[in-house]
Amino acid sequence: MKEQIDNLVKLQKIETESSAIKSILTNVAQRLDSLCSRLSEFEQTTEDEELRLDELNKSYRLYKSDVEMNSSRLKKSQERLGSIKTNKEYLLLLKAIEDIKTINSQIEDQMLECLEQMDDIERVLADRANEYEKLSEQINKEKQTIAQETEENSKRLVELDNEWKTFSSKIDPQLLKIYIMVRDKAGGIAVAPVKDAVCYVCNMNIPSQIYNDLQRCDSLKFCPSCQRIIYWKDT
Ligand SMILES: [Zn+2]
Repeated sequence: MKEQIDNLVKLQKIETESSAIKSILTNVAQRLDSLCSRLSEFEQTTEDEELRLDELNKSYRLYKSDVEMNSSRLKKSQERLGSIKTNKEYLLLLKAIEDIKTINSQIEDQMLECLEQMDDIERVLADRANEYEKLSEQINKEKQTIAQETEENSKRLVELDNEWKTFSSKIDPQLLKIYIMVRDKAGGIAVAPVKDAVCYVCNMNIPSQIYNDLQRCDSLKFCPSCQRIIYWKDT
């Protein structure tokens, strides 16, 4: 009986390790997804900045062509000043010239502001290009680690499967059936060690009669509280 129980304990250990590995493998896709979305979020923000830069460039060009148009109007008006006959006309033209100058100086202020904003964005974009390089390098490393871990875990899973087959073949088929039934009912853990008359899975006391029988290791015993197969673990 002792040997059979030892094999059940071994089986239990194999299954616990297997299910831990399986849950890691299930999470791999999620881990990879989250890495990819970190990168694409970064790319999106960079694209937004680039769009803003484009817009500012367009505005700047529009302002520039306005200023050029106004400057040629200004030149023509100034040339006309010499040929004007009346004082009234002269004053009107002078006023028009001043107005054009004022408008141009306002537009030039806006152009300056545009340039400043463009400078800021270009600096931000240069920083982001550096960050992007670092981030993608880091993400590539993480992806490699994940790929390596996945390979190792998959190998280990095959080993564990083989171990399970080896140990389960040594167990009496009837006992194995009981083990599987208890395991499926008890949420994956079928075998519980008992130390100092306490079941180490559910933490309940084992009655002294069962505990005494248990120490003889000659028959299958169950925890009266959690119904798991119990075995005596001497300290
Ligand atoms: Zn128990």
